[in-house]
Amino acid sequence: MKKIGLLGGMSWESSLEYYRIINESVKSKLGEAHSANCLMYSFDFHEIEELQHKGEWETLTDLMVKEANNLKIAGAEFIVICTNTMHLMAPDIEEGTGLKVIHIADATSEEILRRDVKKVLLLGTKFTMEGTFYLERLEQKGIEVLIPGESDRQVIHDIIYNELILGELNPESRRKYVEIINEAADIGVTGVVLGCTEIPLLIKDKDVSIEVFDTTEIHAKAAVDFAIKE
Ligand code: GLU
Repeated sequence: MKKIGLLGGMSWESSLEYYRIINESVKSKLGEAHSANCLMYSFDFHEIEELQHKGEWETLTDLMVKEANNLKIAGAEFIVICTNTMHLMAPDIEEGTGLKVIHIADATSEEILRRDVKKVLLLGTKFTMEGTFYLERLEQKGIEVLIPGESDRQVIHDIIYNELILGELNPESRRKYVEIINEAADIGVTGVVLGCTEIPLLIKDKDVSIEVFDTTEIHAKAAVDFAIKE
C-alpha cells in the first residue's frame, strides 16, 4: 500500500471525512485490521481563506507546494488535496513535487460517466463554479456542466464560508441548496456535483431526486484505489 499525502484543513470539517472514508475504504478492501498508510498536513484555514478572498493565489500556490514537498520528504508517494477549490494549483503541485496528484475532478467525472449522467449542476465555492480549472476538466470528458445564476452562486459561496467550514448545518441553508438543485432538475439536469468537500455534510442523496456526486467520498475512495493498486 502506497503512503498517501493529504493536504487538509481546508476545512478540517471535511478533512475528518477524508480520514474516515479513506480508513473505512482500506478496511473494506483489505479486511482484518488494515488501515490507511497516510500523512496529513492540516492548514490553519483562517489564513487560507483570507488569502483566497484577497485573490493572493500565487502565495497560496507557494504554500501548497511547500507543504506538499514536506509531505514528500516525510515519505508521501502521491498527493491528495482535500478540497475542490485548491485544485486550481494541482498542476503546480505536481510540477513542484514530482508526485502525482489524484485530481478530484477526474475522479468525479469518472463516476459521472459510470452512472451514465450527461448533464450536471456544479455547486461549490465561487472560485470553483466561476473558474475554468474544474468545469473544463468535466467538459473535456463530454459532460455538460451548468452553474447556478450569479445571486445563487453568492448564496452557495456564503453558506460554505460562513457556516459549513465552521461545522454549522442549518436547515434553512439546506432548503436553499435543495431549491437551487430542484430548479436545475426542472430544466433537464440529471445530476448534481457537490463540488465543495463540506457540502456533503449538508446535502444527502435523500434530499433531492437527481443523482448526487459527493466529491469528498468519490475522491477519498479514488485515493485508496490508487494506494492499493500494484
Ligand atoms: N472545502 C471546500 C472545497 O472543496 C472549500 C474550502 C476551500 O476553499 O478550499 O472547495
